[in-house]
Amino acid sequence: MSELSELYQEVILDHNKSPRNFHRLADANRRAEGYNPLCGDQITVYVKVEDDVIKEISFEGSGCAISKASASMMTDSLKGRTTAEAEALFDRVHKMLKGEVNPGDDSHDLGKLAVLSGVCHFPARVKCASLSWHTLRTALKREKEVASTE
Ligand code: ZN
Repeated sequence: MSELSELYQEVILDHNKSPRNFHRLADANRRAEGYNPLCGDQITVYVKVEDDVIKEISFEGSGCAISKASASMMTDSLKGRTTAEAEALFDRVHKMLKGEVNPGDDSHDLGKLAVLSGVCHFPARVKCASLSWHTLRTALKREKEVASTE
């Protein structure tokens, strides 16, 4: 991890240690499970959608620090957004993780999520960071489905 910036490490470690919205959501009306076989990350994302707005979002699971921190930050940034905004953010995050956008040019939209941009230098970690987003997307599309990064 020595190549990663201090800020990046701090944020990841903080979210890994005390993940936000890390619990089961009893009244969720969308739910999906995700699995990243390369690393062994497993996640369940719960969403409560009303009138196309994400009223509540939470997750459960086990995995590496990056997958957990990414899921934690995702839930933090999506609460109160519309499903269309969530979809747009998914695209931006996905591009950022692949190194296709400069987070500095896009910091307004990405906000704190920009700290994950360092992941693009570690191809094996991109799937860890994108797992929660893939799972969310599956959850928003269908009521029950299993997502995989493969
Ligand atoms: Zn992982």
